[in-house]
Amino acid sequence: MSEQNWKLETKAVQAGWTPKNGEPRVLPIYQSTTFKYDDAQHVADLFDLKTDGFFYTRLANPTVDAFEKKIAALEGGVSAVAVCSGQAANAMAVMNVCPAGGHVLASSALYGGTVTLFTTTLKRMGVEVSMVPYNASADEIVAAARPNTRALFAETLTNPSVNVLNFEQYAIAAKRLGVPFIVDNTFPTPILCRPFEFGADIVTHSTTKFFDGHAQAVGGVIVEKGGFDWKNGKFPEFTEPDLSYHGLIFTEAFPQNPFSVKLRVQWVRDLGIPQMPFNAYLTNLGMETLHLRMERHSQNALALARHLEKHPKIAWVNYPFLESSPDYGLAKKYLSGGSGVLCFGAAGGREASMKVIDSLKLAAIVVHVADVRTSVLHPASMTHRQLTDEQLKAAGVLPELIRVSAGIENIDDIIADFEQALAQI
Ligand SMILES: *Cc1c(COP(=O)(O)O)cnc(C)c1O
Repeated sequence: MSEQNWKLETKAVQAGWTPKNGEPRVLPIYQSTTFKYDDAQHVADLFDLKTDGFFYTRLANPTVDAFEKKIAALEGGVSAVAVCSGQAANAMAVMNVCPAGGHVLASSALYGGTVTLFTTTLKRMGVEVSMVPYNASADEIVAAARPNTRALFAETLTNPSVNVLNFEQYAIAAKRLGVPFIVDNTFPTPILCRPFEFGADIVTHSTTKFFDGHAQAVGGVIVEKGGFDWKNGKFPEFTEPDLSYHGLIFTEAFPQNPFSVKLRVQWVRDLGIPQMPFNAYLTNLGMETLHLRMERHSQNALALARHLEKHPKIAWVNYPFLESSPDYGLAKKYLSGGSGVLCFGAAGGREASMKVIDSLKLAAIVVHVADVRTSVLHPASMTHRQLTDEQLKAAGVLPELIRVSAGIENIDDIIADFEQALAQI
């Protein structure tokens, strides 16, 4: 059976690295900035993108390459480019299709860092971003577009409000506008949702989260589905000669994956934002158990959400697979599990919520989600601190919202910890 037909679990364990006779069974760390060649012409051809190979780790490295291939296989894309963080992944996914003077449409329910990137930093670079609700209809989205709109961006499961994207409506809108639909799939991972099956053209990840899963390596990745019509007249950077490569035309030279090649040879090369081999090695190691962990994270989060929902000191709980969730229908349609993140508000408001997290013992307050240890965070004073009250509301971040990342410990211990903390208020 070919690698392409493997099931997700098999890909998580084995895709990307296929050792030849006598080579290491386990993906090695190629901790080398450079690679040796026998003749100068070969290296010249590498520089001209005429042949495949490695010459400098800022552009490509064998460990990182195997890691990229595993993620592309899991998402069902043609290729992937790893970068140094999830922030870099989202910035590059957008900038690769939208130069200064362009416009991007994005869901308003986003990770705090992405909101800041879109509303402040991209703006300074000449890219305007406007926001639409995460559950907007295709008509509403299309109505917010401009003649210079170049991309539509959203998160599958929003951080931290865990709302589920209405893929169908976004996909219809992107098709009508002739722009790529970019989806940040960090929270579900391809184990629980594969956005390409629901109309996405580009998928991004903060691999820092569940892919690594052990809170050890910051990283990001951008995956290309392949088949997007870059020749529809809106993307001259893909279809006209590029001066940085002697007039190369990306859609002509790389018809399978022009987005990925352009992203790597322009943005990763020129801004210098590659993923490092050691991080790719650690994250790949984490990914070998991704399918097992996602199942347990989802079970524990749902059990904790159900428990908290019944608790008299809790005002509300949101988790996509709670029947009470506004997105329960969307969750069943698009996700095979709810992932590890839930959020709640204590009945006593912001102060009570803060007291609860201060009283937790097994669950730690950390600026992170999605690792094996249960953790909590108060977004309004931490990850989303830079947002205005208006932006907080649009991102679904209430002042009392506590984000919980359910780990893979025994659920009885996790629940007991929240019980003792709630007893303090
Ligand atoms: C964490 C996160 C990011 C940013 O990733 P970093 O690896 O921290 O740079 C982007 N999107 C989502 C949904 C995230 O959770």
